Amino acid sequence: MKHDFDVIVVGGGHAGADAAHAAARMGARTALVTLTFESIGVMSCNPAIGGLGKGHLVREIDALDGVMGRVADKAGIQFRLLNRRKGPAVQGPRAQADRKIYREEMQREMRDCPNLTIVEGEAADFLMSGAEVRGVRLADGSEISASAVVLTTGTFLRGLIHIGQVSRPGGRMGDKPSVKLAERIDQFGLPLGRLKTGTPPRLDGTTIDWSDLEVQPGDDDPTLFSFLSSKVSAQQISCGITHTNEQTHEIIEKNIGKSAMYSGRIEGVGPRYCPSIEDKIVRFAEKSSHQVFLEPESLSDNVIYPNGISTSLPEDIQHDYVRSIKGLENVTILQPGYAIEYDYVDSRALDSRLAVRDVPGLFLAGQINGTTGYEEAAAQGLVAGLNAAAVALGRDPITFSRSNSYIGVMVDDLITRGVSEPYRMFTSRAEFRLSLRADNADQRLTPLGIEVGCVGAERKQAFEAKMSALAEARQDMESVVFTPKELVTAGHAVNQDGKRRNGYELLALQQFDFDALVALRPEWGAIDEASRDQLSKDAMYANYILRQERDVAVLKRDEQQRIPTDFDYMAMEGLSNELKMKLNAARPDNIGQAGRIDGMTPAALTLLLAKVRQSR
Ligand code: FAD
Repeated sequence: MKHDFDVIVVGGGHAGADAAHAAARMGARTALVTLTFESIGVMSCNPAIGGLGKGHLVREIDALDGVMGRVADKAGIQFRLLNRRKGPAVQGPRAQADRKIYREEMQREMRDCPNLTIVEGEAADFLMSGAEVRGVRLADGSEISASAVVLTTGTFLRGLIHIGQVSRPGGRMGDKPSVKLAERIDQFGLPLGRLKTGTPPRLDGTTIDWSDLEVQPGDDDPTLFSFLSSKVSAQQISCGITHTNEQTHEIIEKNIGKSAMYSGRIEGVGPRYCPSIEDKIVRFAEKSSHQVFLEPESLSDNVIYPNGISTSLPEDIQHDYVRSIKGLENVTILQPGYAIEYDYVDSRALDSRLAVRDVPGLFLAGQINGTTGYEEAAAQGLVAGLNAAAVALGRDPITFSRSNSYIGVMVDDLITRGVSEPYRMFTSRAEFRLSLRADNADQRLTPLGIEVGCVGAERKQAFEAKMSALAEARQDMESVVFTPKELVTAGHAVNQDGKRRNGYELLALQQFDFDALVALRPEWGAIDEASRDQLSKDAMYANYILRQERDVAVLKRDEQQRIPTDFDYMAMEGLSNELKMKLNAARPDNIGQAGRIDGMTPAALTLLLAKVRQSR
């Protein structure tokens, strides 16, 4: 049957934009159905992209030619590399973005993308062919058919906004929730839960007294997200820093019972790593002050985002506590802070393509899967978009491993463990983080992107040119060998172990930076700046990565031990009922995933492996 489109993506937030673009890049005829064109690329909360762990995700999206990184580079008004003093493996690029430029650039990317059609409307129902999803019905009754549908509705499913004692339905401030779609999802029998998140009040920057506040500038040498970007586009700005104080805490403590969260009005679990100011004051009662970053939201208006004081207190209390903070004594609140509760789907119902296992043709990505953050959403959008296109075009699934990407780590965490609180990325979640660095995301993933067909000609060319410059420089460095004696004569204190080392091996030693090597061999001065930087980072980790290889090989072996999708865990003898139920709920694709299910023991895994082999 001929469908209107190959792929439909519902929702034009961060997951939806990268999902739709990815599907279209694969050559699938794609429709992006979203409430309004204007809402594409809206940042619901903080105007910033990247950060620790999250910056890695953005680089990986970019390595596969996704949109988030290059849009953030165009919109960035302050770039900072977090953890700059630590090793490159845990450094996180972050940019504060001009909200308006981000939205405009994202909308331009969507408008200019070949194979992509934008449809304004509310998806209210699915078109079904038996048990399979084959399109969507809009609230105005029109129907659009497709081979696969990716749902990325964020916080909109039965969204409920809370400000103090007032609660009202809403997908986010100013938007209606998606109720009809939530009811339809109920009928699929998917496991649903409730989560919450919150945002601070927005302030009028012209009413802030900046004169005595600390200033935080960006980096002098901005670290951009996209491997294709070479310079910042927008004017760069500084942020202000202020602090809550004893008076602020007193006001909040006195009124804590009026907070939506502490008066029992909210049942959903909030993000542990992004607590509200009420949470901070209750949980860290010993602290008399918390830092607040005053971040301009745009070059073209005066709205300030006070990072660190999200709240669900009533408006008048917000007014009082905000005005108790230094610099904010006369501030005008432009929009109150609020909390939002929404439905999410237990991500253990998904497979590693982010397809719903029991509902063929349906993929889920973004906050709907229990994650928090723009970057987590966009990375999932990419995975779901690529795979929805693969289904529609009859191609092989495109999956990611914990050994090649943070994307793989996140998807694996979601589908094997599910979430009990909003999931955000951290470098500590990746066991192979020395090899999964932000700086080498292109080396890890662009070849895969070229192979599956989601990387365009410009990136392919730039990547191949970079790799050939790197290979040439590395070969040159490996071809010249130094004895310890030569090095000592040149003034370097090296081990007298008799070991001869080539130029690349010397780069791995702490006392040799590139300039020291150029002093040894002036011809290496001709190696370009970008190659020097990349070779230095690659060399620094080369020995650790060699040591990791055995663990990576074990993981890959386990990933190759596939478990049939219809494997009957409940009939397995020798397993506890609890484990049977956990395995049955998660239905892992392979032995590696089964091993990471909460409570799985080595004995149970050996038994499972034996049964899987017998069943073949
Ligand atoms: P969204 O960006 O929400 O996009 C959903 C899209 O779907 C929207 O474009 C909407 O118009 C569209 N849509 C919804 N229903 C339909 C329908 N039926 N038909 C058609 N289109 C539809 N993240 C953090 O990391 N830290 C925070 O502190 C934080 N605080 C937040 C505070 C608030 C109040 C909110 C609302 C979000 C917050 N977030 C925070 C989360 C962050 O905004 C999300 O993680 C991110 O936007 C998720 O992206 P998404 O694409 O999944 O959903």
